[in-house]
Parts: sequence; C-alpha cells; structure tokens
Amino acid sequence: MIIDTHTHLLDTKFDNDRFSVIEKAYLTGIKKFLEVSCDIESWDTAIHFSDTKNMFIALGIHPYNLIKNKPEKKSYDKLHFLARAKKCLAIGEIGLDFHYNRSNEIINNQIECLLKQLNIAHKLNKPVILHCRDAYDDMINIFRKNKIAPLKGVVHCFSGTLKQALELLDFGLYLGIGGKLTYRKEKILKQIVYKIDINKLVVETDCPYLPPKKYVGTRNEPSYITETVKEITRIRKTTITHIEDILTKNALNLFKFY
Ligand SMILES: [Zn+2]
Repeated sequence: MIIDTHTHLLDTKFDNDRFSVIEKAYLTGIKKFLEVSCDIESWDTAIHFSDTKNMFIALGIHPYNLIKNKPEKKSYDKLHFLARAKKCLAIGEIGLDFHYNRSNEIINNQIECLLKQLNIAHKLNKPVILHCRDAYDDMINIFRKNKIAPLKGVVHCFSGTLKQALELLDFGLYLGIGGKLTYRKEKILKQIVYKIDINKLVVETDCPYLPPKKYVGTRNEPSYITETVKEITRIRKTTITHIEDILTKNALNLFKFY
C-alpha cells in the first residue's frame, strides 16, 4: 500500500475524469489520498469531497493567496471551525513563497498568516503541511525566533540543501518527496534522500503539478507516485516492498489516516 500525502484532485484539470483517476490509482496500490485545499473559496468543496472513500483533506491558506489581500479574521475562524472535521488531517499548505515577490509587505503578510495558521494547528493538535519556496532559511529563522518546536508536519516538495533539510528535521518535521526526485539534474535532492533518516520521508505527487520524469509534459496523477517510490528504492539500494512499508508507516505516523 502507498499513500499519496499531497494531491490537488479538485483542480479543474481533473474535471473530466476525477473518479477514474482515483480508481486507477487505487488499482495501482495507492490506497489513501490527502487532498490539499489551500484557498479559502475551495474549503467547502473539499469538505464535501472528503465524503469520498479513502479521501482525506488538509485545509489552509497558501502563501500565493496573500499577494492581493490579507485574509480577514472570519477566514481564520472558518478554518479553525472546518478543520475540526475528522477527515481533515492537517492544516496546509501554508508557508512562505518569495519566488515572485520579495516586497516587505508581502513578506510580512506571509509570515503573519503562517504564524496564525501554525497556532490553529497547535490548538487543534493537527500537523501542518508547509510550502516553502526560496525561503527555507527565512522559515527556519521564524521557527527559531518564535520558539516553534517541536513541530509536527511535513515540508512538502522539499527542494533545499542538505543543511536546511537537517535543520528542518531537527524541528521534528518530515520531508515530502515528489516527482522531482526522478529528474537527473536533482543531484542534491537525491543526495538528501540517500543521507537522511528514511523514517522522516513521505511521498507525494502534488498532482496535477510536477510529474515524474517519465511523464514530463503531461498532467501528474496519483498512480505516477510509483516512479518516485522506485527512485527512492534505487537510491537507498533496497526493495520496493521495504520502501513502501516504511513510507506508509511514516505517513501513518504523521497523519491520522484511518
Ligand atoms: Zn500542493
């Protein structure tokens, strides 16, 4: 059994075949899914979608959504309320993204929104799914400055350095590994997967984004997660069943799938 710990199956790219994509994944051995809903307008749809068998959700406000407006208090209240649902396993994805804009205003909005959502996760005793782009050191400094440790959660689609990976693991976090691992140029990521504690890795697709090498140029989907599992197996020089067992155990330790 494999668990896809990060999907966006509610994306419009799945509008024509959403349930056949899920069925195909199911037949490939992907038995549970964590659907990440990270803009305020989509939370109600995600709650409804979580009625689907083996479909779990995470709710949060993605840093992308802070470019124009700061969220209102009522949005945080709504998140706190909806995230109490049993099928909501995490708050996410939340975090920092300084790729397109490094203005002080945007940075401060993102930090404020991240801290508020970390607080909600803490109150609900749920893990977080962290998104971080061009901001790993900033995020590490914020955790240190605000004494946020230990921290239960995952840094999804990790793409930092080995040093940053080790620092994030020190907070108690897991690393989410996706299709990028299969790209030849991702030498640092391959080295990280080789060196760090295997009990701190979870796999994800982030579908429809970031397909593995074999499917570049097409829409990513949960069944393609097997490519990432194969690559981890190759790097760690072991067997697929062994890696699958560890990755599933890790996902179950981090999130309360049932
Ligand atoms: Zn995502």
